[in-house]
Amino acid sequence: MSATTSPLGRWGPHSSSLAGRTLIAMFEAQRLPHALLIAGPVGVGKRDLAIRIAQALLCESSDLTSAGPCQECRTCRRLHDPTQPGLDPQHSDVEVVTPGSLCAESDHDHRNTRTIGICVVRRIEHTATLAPFEADRRIMIINPADALTHEAADAFLKTLEEPPDRVHFILLTAQEAQLSETIRSRCRTLTLSPLPAAQLDDWLDQWAAQEGLSLPDTPQHRAELGRLARGRPGWLQTSLRDGDPGTLRATQIDDAVRIANASRSERLEWSEQIVGRATSPQTIGNLELILDAWTDWWRDLWLCHTDQQDALIHVSQRARIEQIAALYDQQELSQFLEKIQGTRALIQRGVTHGLNARLALDVLLLNIPTPRKTS
Ligand SMILES: [Zn+2]
Ligand SMILES: [Zn+2]
Repeated sequence: MSATTSPLGRWGPHSSSLAGRTLIAMFEAQRLPHALLIAGPVGVGKRDLAIRIAQALLCESSDLTSAGPCQECRTCRRLHDPTQPGLDPQHSDVEVVTPGSLCAESDHDHRNTRTIGICVVRRIEHTATLAPFEADRRIMIINPADALTHEAADAFLKTLEEPPDRVHFILLTAQEAQLSETIRSRCRTLTLSPLPAAQLDDWLDQWAAQEGLSLPDTPQHRAELGRLARGRPGWLQTSLRDGDPGTLRATQIDDAVRIANASRSERLEWSEQIVGRATSPQTIGNLELILDAWTDWWRDLWLCHTDQQDALIHVSQRARIEQIAALYDQQELSQFLEKIQGTRALIQRGVTHGLNARLALDVLLLNIPTPRKTS
């Protein structure tokens, strides 16, 4: 089967998961609800699935059966073009609403907003009442739905309850618990879970071929990629489009090893370099990625110490892990691992409360256990 004729190619990585099967059954019965909520962790592939649903609804060669979008017709390509994967859908009847989207007021500037306010919902509601422009229906994807302010969510309820004919709302969230019960109760929920390694791997080959991307060629690096992904196809899509995530990770680990052997002043200098004085959302985002990498790295050292090599993430660096793990006590490793996770949580919680990220990182760096000298 070629990529575009198999369910995996058409419906994507979740085509055989419970959520995917449920969705396909809805299409088979031609009973797709007008308000869908796709929930699941960051990177699991929610946006990808929402786009595929929009494609399936508008595809020129599909008759709304379970076959899925062809991925090849002009409409499918306008919603997702593999040569320009970062582009939003280029179709006047499909819109992805995000924080920063246009609102009903001409003098508002939402470019730096992190929420979706009531003025945006007013515009969505108005658009929803208009006849579709070129297709026979409209699709509006709200990403993420947990960015709706309380006021905006309240205003949206009525529309969600009785959506205009020919309008489909698809709400996405990684934090379902933050959505009000009233919003959730008006949507049919599809929950995406991380995929088992073998399923993710099958999909990855096919997807990379479809998108014209190359994958790591050694089995070891390929295995490492799968472990880094933790079952999340959306994470793989985003990371692989930016290059090889394994290369970025290797750099982050080199830094972690270097800093563990560095002097106090070198550590603080590095902290200044990473965070600087003015913390922007990008700086915080980058710091979170570094701390994720450190968590994985120090956990690998701990796993090695406790004879759990099978669970290592960085399988391509096994020899180095064994060598470095021997320089620490098991307890030093587990304690520092807790400190990294504590700092990570602090930064995540503190962003909205003006936390001094630089100070938090400095404290962590000064607490790195000292490796024993080898003779
Ligand atoms: Zn199509
Ligand atoms: Zn506004």
